Amino acid sequence: MGKRDASPPLGRWRIAVRGIVQGVGFRPFVYNAARARGLSGWVANEADTVQIEVQGEPAALDDFLKTLESTPPPRARIDAIHREAVAVVENARASFEICASTAHSAPGPAIPADLATCEACLAEIESARERRHRYPFTNCTNCGPRWSIIQGLPYDRPRTSMARFEMCPDCRAEYSDPADRRFHAQPIACPRCGPRLRLLDALGAELADGDAALRQCAEAIRAGRIAALKGLGGFQLVVDALDESAVARLRDRKRRPDRPFALMMASLDDVRRCCHVSSAEANLLAAPEAPILLLRRRDDGPGVAPAVAPGNPYLGVMLPYTPLHHLLMAAVARPVVCTSGNLSEEPMATATQDALARLGSIADVFLTHNRPIVRPVDDSVGWVDDDGLRLVRRARGFAPLPVALARPGPTVLAVGGHLKNTVALALEHHAVLSAHVGDLESPASREVHQRAVEDLVGFFQATPERVACDLHPDYASTRLAESLAAAWNVPLIRVQHHHAHVAACMAEHGLDGAVLGLAWDGTGYGADGTVWGGEALVCEGTGFTRLAHPRTFRLPGGDRAVREPRRSALGVLFEIDPDTARRHAAAWFTPAELDTLLSMLRQGSSSPLTSSLGRLFDAVAALCGLAPVISFEGQAAMALEFAVDPQHQEAYPLPLDESGSPVGPRVADWRPLVEAVLADRAAGVSVGRIAARFHNALAELALAIARGAGISRVVLGGGCFQNRLLAARARTRLSEAGFNVYNPRGVPPGDGGIALGQVWLARQN
Ligand code: ZN
Ligand code: ZN
Ligand code: FE
Repeated sequence: MGKRDASPPLGRWRIAVRGIVQGVGFRPFVYNAARARGLSGWVANEADTVQIEVQGEPAALDDFLKTLESTPPPRARIDAIHREAVAVVENARASFEICASTAHSAPGPAIPADLATCEACLAEIESARERRHRYPFTNCTNCGPRWSIIQGLPYDRPRTSMARFEMCPDCRAEYSDPADRRFHAQPIACPRCGPRLRLLDALGAELADGDAALRQCAEAIRAGRIAALKGLGGFQLVVDALDESAVARLRDRKRRPDRPFALMMASLDDVRRCCHVSSAEANLLAAPEAPILLLRRRDDGPGVAPAVAPGNPYLGVMLPYTPLHHLLMAAVARPVVCTSGNLSEEPMATATQDALARLGSIADVFLTHNRPIVRPVDDSVGWVDDDGLRLVRRARGFAPLPVALARPGPTVLAVGGHLKNTVALALEHHAVLSAHVGDLESPASREVHQRAVEDLVGFFQATPERVACDLHPDYASTRLAESLAAAWNVPLIRVQHHHAHVAACMAEHGLDGAVLGLAWDGTGYGADGTVWGGEALVCEGTGFTRLAHPRTFRLPGGDRAVREPRRSALGVLFEIDPDTARRHAAAWFTPAELDTLLSMLRQGSSSPLTSSLGRLFDAVAALCGLAPVISFEGQAAMALEFAVDPQHQEAYPLPLDESGSPVGPRVADWRPLVEAVLADRAAGVSVGRIAARFHNALAELALAIARGAGISRVVLGGGCFQNRLLAARARTRLSEAGFNVYNPRGVPPGDGGIALGQVWLARQN
């Protein structure tokens, strides 16, 4: 090679990595990968991108890039890597450096979600030799709080609720050491410098602090008392799940008579003793997202108190996901009920004073601490089928991870619907969904909703160009959207509820062109002003055509029917024959009540017409004697689902008639079905068989509608598809017939997904 240098010429690359790359140990990973290969340069956070420059020998650069692509940190998610060659820097320093975050541009949407405690941190907590032995706020770059403590971006400690805790010398040394697992772990803490536990009585007087607080709280739970626990994203109510009277007391005080409670269990082995757990389910329970999973109970399992989930073949179970939960579960040494810290449907408490004020009449003791919760993040809930996880409530572990959209577009804010509300913001090629906000029934929950909107817009420094809301004129969310659109002087786009259900699934799966959407649901405001809920919509672009719906019937008393399935049953029977209605309904109402309701039906007063499939479920459940009056929406449908004897494959008749007009939607006539239910009841046919025939009839209806529509892609959305049996049977019938079936998966099928459908449609407007 003559006089030329023996080593190959140096190269220098500028690399931009986009995705979930902050708060997941990405910069330390880059640092170590570069140093190991003798590369010089730097790495820095910038908005949702990590910027890197590396210089060195070509083979080392190639190897570095391969490592970046193939073995990123476990919690990172790389969406794109952009690389370009740049001029070699002569006399470059030999070292590789981590630069301070310098970005001043608006943050992009890739913010990490809260992560369950990792194995390494758990081992430290359990080891008496470690300085973090039994420390409930232990975390590292692979685990710990994120979205629940981040106030702003870039993600650095001063912009988290850990800012008030000054690191001790030991923590600072770990934080500054590139070889350490806690290098740049923003929520780093230890017993000397970090947050501290306190146990309070219901009046706020301190009973104990530190480890004694935890042990005393565990004793109280073991003694059957109710504890309020300041968890990761809000307060939780905890009670011994084996103690029937304690669980019943919690139900009574929380004013939640029937709705199932979630459980926390110390280990997978404990879960397996109570429930059937597949390997996919086991992996998800133990994953960093650590959701509540709905698992089938074992008949031979140990006795969880019946009051935990009355009449329900599933148990909602999660594993501990913070050191605090791990330590508490070990000390309690039995399964506990672990449910959101709220009264009835109100918002979850996040601050100690608020918790004392609102939960003081429910909890006996309060286990709290001094690390503030920046925003409420409830536990996520889902179930696993053949294709993996399906979320029914999307919050901790998932919010604010963006949902990728097929193309970029304008910035749109969507305020969601009314029940199970979430808020969404579309930014560039992503939509960010808030954590589950809940039902907007009370002034307190409407305030939380407004804060969730302001938080999302403020956090991402977004300037919405459009606002989207439901078509319902009287929703609190609609009124908020109207005032925001006026204040910002941007267009307001009103999206029909069931169109939004279908669109949410289209957005999630990136579907373009025409699809047949079956939005089978409770209730939503229809384009014609009636109450919709069993809609077959052909959706394309920003528009939809209503292809079919169940025959309409009147709901005596309107919204009151949601809590009284017997009213839906009366409305359905009245459509068939008023005398039949009077005869059957005599068991449900006093003669005076029945007279009033029948006269309302005759005159059509306070009795809106509906095509809701959810209300048809209610009606059939009531006809089966299952749930004439309920305490939460969907309770009667759940009872009917759980009653099904799955060996029965035959279906009730549910013919799809042509409507009178040549252009109007087709009508599914349920009258022969209801008559068959009455005949079966009279003949003493089992409720299990009746329930099976009803579910099968709906699966056949889905197929008949799809065949008539002649569109190969079918989207199944709406709250009815939280019914696992209905979802599975409809999917099977359609798939077997050659249709491509799409279900919501990462976004709830019910009203928790509405906001995503709203932004997706409003963008195309
Ligand atoms: Zn960790
Ligand atoms: Zn420390
Ligand atoms: Fe809905």
